[in-house]
Amino acid sequence: MNIVTLHAANPGPMTGSGNWTYLVPGPRPLLVDAGVGHASHLDELFAATPAGLADVVVTHAHADHISGAPALHRRAPAARFRKVPWPEADAGYDVPWEALADGQVLETGEGPLTVVHTPGHAPDHVVLWHEASRTAFTGDLLVRGSTVVIPASRGGVLADYLRSLRRLAALAPRRALPAHGPVIDDPLAVIDLYLAHRRDRERQVLEALDGGPATVTAIVARLYLDLQPALVAMAEESVLAHLLMLEGEARVARDGATWRLAR
Ligand SMILES: [Zn+2]
Repeated sequence: MNIVTLHAANPGPMTGSGNWTYLVPGPRPLLVDAGVGHASHLDELFAATPAGLADVVVTHAHADHISGAPALHRRAPAARFRKVPWPEADAGYDVPWEALADGQVLETGEGPLTVVHTPGHAPDHVVLWHEASRTAFTGDLLVRGSTVVIPASRGGVLADYLRSLRRLAALAPRRALPAHGPVIDDPLAVIDLYLAHRRDRERQVLEALDGGPATVTAIVARLYLDLQPALVAMAEESVLAHLLMLEGEARVARDGATWRLAR
């Protein structure tokens, strides 16, 4: 599969070394993720596709994936901007969004890409699946060398995320092209690691509550030793995501901000 990898030029505390976007060139050029509208990203992109863009697919409405959409729209007014709707998030980016749905097929010069709705990290998250090469454009579903944050207070749902991981695994991908970090040539191994990590974390959360009711902050202090202050909020989101999943399974309950085992 012929793909042009383009860096969005947006390194920072939340994006690591920054985002990758992927251009599928050919007669119907399709861009996966919009970046942030950085001039060097736009210049590199339109040098690679002088005839413009047919489609821009945004994997989900987090700023590092979507905020470049208006700048792309100005440079490529004929391009169609597509994503699974998340209205309150999408409204911040003024382009004519077209709704993607699970199972929809997008034609490219490299053959069809199938939309796989993979909520969890964000409610609107999609993977694009290229069956011929068993390649998945995985957005923020997978990152090599790190786990993925489930922002539980902003649309993240851990149970959905685990279902999405299993759904990707069932496709038996050979290669995953993530929005952050290096290409993943063993996606099934990464998914297995993630599922094992979540099981460990769940056990730790339950053990923490076994000692008595606790707040999210107290559980984080117990589970994450030597946590840098900048990462506390992310750890709290992760613990909250676990608690909400366990609450859905009637294994924990809460009284105000205090969580306890449900017995
Ligand atoms: Zn994201």
